Amino acid sequence: MDTLKDNVENVLLLSPEELAGISFRCTCGKEHSVDIKKIIIEKGAVNKVPEIAAPFKDGKLFLVADNNTYRVAGQAVEEMLKNKNFNVYSFVFNTPHELVPDVSTLGRLLVEIELGTSLIVAVGSGVINDMCRYLAYKLEIPYIIVGTAPSMDGYASVVTPTIVDGIKATLGGVYPYAIIGDIDILKNAPMRMLYAGFGDILGKVNALADWNLARILRDEEYCDICAGLVKNALKKCIDNIDGIKNREENAIKYLMEALVIAGVAMGMFGNSRPASGAEHHFAHYWDEDAIARGAEHPLHGNSVGVGTVVAAEQYKIIKDKVPEGVEMPDPEEVTSLLKRLGAWHNPADLGISKDLFRRSILHSKDSRPKFTSSHYAGELGMLEEIAEILTKKFYE
Ligand SMILES: [Zn+2]
Ligand SMILES: [Zn+2]
Repeated sequence: MDTLKDNVENVLLLSPEELAGISFRCTCGKEHSVDIKKIIIEKGAVNKVPEIAAPFKDGKLFLVADNNTYRVAGQAVEEMLKNKNFNVYSFVFNTPHELVPDVSTLGRLLVEIELGTSLIVAVGSGVINDMCRYLAYKLEIPYIIVGTAPSMDGYASVVTPTIVDGIKATLGGVYPYAIIGDIDILKNAPMRMLYAGFGDILGKVNALADWNLARILRDEEYCDICAGLVKNALKKCIDNIDGIKNREENAIKYLMEALVIAGVAMGMFGNSRPASGAEHHFAHYWDEDAIARGAEHPLHGNSVGVGTVVAAEQYKIIKDKVPEGVEMPDPEEVTSLLKRLGAWHNPADLGISKDLFRRSILHSKDSRPKFTSSHYAGELGMLEEIAEILTKKFYE
């Protein structure tokens, strides 16, 4: 890592594989580190699971999947490990609906995990990864994630969004020991999961604008390296949007890499600033409303994609008051990208009611301290006007 000492900017040239395990003193003044042992995103990556799990061979391996992820990857991983004489046992969630990240799901894993387990092997995406991360954290057992869909940026996360008493809480967590993304599996994920992954990444265009807004107006800490990593990853995905739509291997690799890098950047910076702004606040507000009603909500990234359109429209309305140096997202551009992919780009189409939408403009920022364009619009006394304009735009 000598090159990093000479020039911190070289971090921007590293692949996700190379980012694993680095630590350096940054130009922003922080000491950044990525405490993930291995990141492997390539064709046939699952074949490396036995090699990665080798240090844990003395104990039992607990493989967790749901019926879909077991079919597309879990079973093969389990057989591979058994063939290499690992002591592996598995639990497969059998649920007709999306698995819910709540205390009941966590409790089930606690019941199923056996004493003497040395490694948790999570096979899945959002919820499976989140639940296994928390289990790993609480039991102090390392976990690896075999990703089955490039659908969200939580693979390299250290926090666990979980529903507790009907409210979305952010519980603790640990980094995975390893992240394995097999392109042969990822490229065949359901289309709406690819849309979601792209939506979560597209959100960064607004998140980075909000971060700059906070830097300028609030003198908030900023890191060019963390922002640069996210920006480069975002650009690669936008440049390859047709490839994502067509499930081309290179494009799927860029998407998965971007999702991992976004998580890494948040971990490096120490909070979610590099990858989440007002677009995520809108998405959370809509999700929480569905949770309160006991209804299912769209995949996180699909809400974030639409949230990005809304946040960009909001910037457009307040643009005369936005200080120089904030690269504002262009609503026409983000909308056309989502359209080109075939993903949702309008809150009404996503199933957000007119009333909920209006309330989200006014209140999604409430009790969320992270300063965004919504907070700024609130200070300017413009939220009512924005709610009026955008509700008309999307619902009439
Ligand atoms: Zn930095
Ligand atoms: Zn997200």
